[in-house]
Amino acid sequence: MEIFKTVNVQKDPQNTNIESIEKVRCLIIGSGPAGYTAAIYAARANLKPVVYTGLQMGGQLTTTTEVDNYPGYPDGITGPEMMENFKKQAERFGADIRFGIATDVDFSGSKHRVTIDNNKVIEADTVIISTGATAKYLGIESESKYAGMGVSACATCDGFFYKGKDVAVVGGGDTAAEEATYLAGLCRKVYLIVRRDVLRASKAMQEKVLNTDNIEVLWEHQTIDLFGENGVEGANLIKKKGSPDEEKVSIKIDGFFLAIGHIPNSEVFNKFIETDPVGYIKTIPGSSKTNIVGVFAAGDVQDPHYRQAVTAAGSGCMAAIDAERYLSELK
Ligand SMILES: Cc1cc2nc3c(=O)[nH]c(=O)nc-3n(C[C@H](O)[C@H](O)[C@H](O)COP(=O)(O)OP(=O)(O)OC[C@H]3O[C@@H](n4cnc5c(N)ncnc54)[C@H](O)[C@@H]3O)c2cc1C
Repeated sequence: MEIFKTVNVQKDPQNTNIESIEKVRCLIIGSGPAGYTAAIYAARANLKPVVYTGLQMGGQLTTTTEVDNYPGYPDGITGPEMMENFKKQAERFGADIRFGIATDVDFSGSKHRVTIDNNKVIEADTVIISTGATAKYLGIESESKYAGMGVSACATCDGFFYKGKDVAVVGGGDTAAEEATYLAGLCRKVYLIVRRDVLRASKAMQEKVLNTDNIEVLWEHQTIDLFGENGVEGANLIKKKGSPDEEKVSIKIDGFFLAIGHIPNSEVFNKFIETDPVGYIKTIPGSSKTNIVGVFAAGDVQDPHYRQAVTAAGSGCMAAIDAERYLSELK
């Protein structure tokens, strides 16, 4: 029996705002590398996937210029161009890509209900959540001024562009310690800007940072702003803010890396879907399965460790294969 996209334009008696309920086999939420890759695989497996793009069609990579580390592009490619290619490839196999935001979910029954834009319900046999994670920024004006011109929230993505240069990393946790150590292998000098007088990072990571010659920890420093003509050339900091010893400090840097955490975009699902304390969706190791049967997660929303386009795409592929196998076992 096929239940592909049967559209019942009917009012939901439980919610007067709901205008229609549509049944689909595979609903994909999010249009980054994970969502579009899931769409390519699901479409080729004849699951007739419907993709809701969210506000940021194409995901995080649409906010960057050059992507140099995605395999298959020997000369690099811009983020927006790459994501347009992902979209075209998914559409070639019939993925139904629509603009809309998942605003509510009900995963209590065997059919998974997802409300779109507060006014339409999709009843899906399988759901793939690929809503990504958003990097946290300090909130200073110059961060947006220099976005893509010296400010980055991903050392693995952008560190290479600062080979032999001086950079700063902001943060005191494991991610900051890891990013600083990674950059120390590429850059001439790395300042680690730490707000407190201790690091929150694990003992092992702390030791690594403190024993790396070209990392200088700036304890009890906070960033006020960044400066530079055509990109970041330095940062103005404040030391021991609010104390009698408060002092202004300037450092010369070419790159400014934020490493103060990410917010996984999982809030709308967390009534039903298990997450870790930060909000990353928990999946069964080695799979994309969540705690709800028939609901899968892929990409940054379930990945506190790698958060790369290629890992997101890989897990999108896994989610589509898991969804297809789940459906074929139901038959
Ligand atoms: C500036 C920048 C540069 C980067 N450079 C690189 C690089 O060079 N190489 C690399 O490998 N990685 C890079 N990354 C990281 C890479 O972009 C991410 O790892 C990757 O995009 C994650 O893919 P994703 O599909 O999981 O999520 P995302 O790309 O974050 O996509 C999430 C999608 O979910 C949608 N969404 C969110 N909430 C909802 C909702 N409620 N309903 C519907 N849709 C929703 C959004 O609109 C978006 O389409 C960079 C990241 C940034 C920010």
